[in-house]
Amino acid sequence: MSVLDIRNVETFYGAIMALRGVSLTVEQGEIVTILGANGAGKTTLMKTISGLMDPEKGSIDFNGVRIDGMEPDKIVAMGLAHVPEGREVFPYLTIEENLRMGAYTRRGADIRDDIDMVYSYFPILKERRAQSAGFLSGGQQQMLAIGRGLMARPKLMLLDEPSLGLSPLLTQEIFAIIKRLNTEQGVTMLLVEQNANVALHTAHKGYVLEMGRIVMAGSCEELRASDDIQEFYLGRQ
Ligand code: ATP
Repeated sequence: MSVLDIRNVETFYGAIMALRGVSLTVEQGEIVTILGANGAGKTTLMKTISGLMDPEKGSIDFNGVRIDGMEPDKIVAMGLAHVPEGREVFPYLTIEENLRMGAYTRRGADIRDDIDMVYSYFPILKERRAQSAGFLSGGQQQMLAIGRGLMARPKLMLLDEPSLGLSPLLTQEIFAIIKRLNTEQGVTMLLVEQNANVALHTAHKGYVLEMGRIVMAGSCEELRASDDIQEFYLGRQ
């Protein structure tokens, strides 16, 4: 059974069809990336999975349970964490309070252990734990958003454009941590990313979304070797 199984999903903004029959699967332990240009439908796909938008057609199964049409908080409670584009940390709460907010579906003493686990991956968050999140740099806010997602002990983490607005160096750093979280903590991830190069060196498999349709799918190795991917996404001649 797949962690996520999306079949023929169609999602609209009014009369505009943003997803045109999207199908994809994510297996336990995988990092799967969705590549696509601006406006391809990547964010719409993430919102459709997390219940912020309802598809008109198709189905979405999460660990064997149908979730399309469910309320977002119910989907979160089932173990899906969405780290949205633009991070959206709580600026007036401290870093540690933000992390605790990520565990709101849970209770118990092990929350402290998970905060320490997050700090072990992002030591800068520990250093600044008592400061308001609004004062963090863009990269640190991205770290906090990922950390907050981890606090829910998700069965699947959706990451929407983690590199947005970050320098190449910081992007490399964030993706190295994403990879470590996957190998060391076993976190399954679905990753939307415009930086195809870094995404195709981090994920196991990928899908290419163009104008609301999946036009290519394969292992990251296969995708990196494709002439079309090299020309349109990796910028090679
Ligand atoms: P980006 O990388 O720029 O965020 P994206 O791949 O995430 O792009 P979406 O934001 O999902 O793309 O947009 C998919 C399509 O839906 C686009 O054609 C866009 O113009 C359209 N769209 C997005 N949001 C709305 C909206 N609120 N109302 C109408 N159309 C929208």
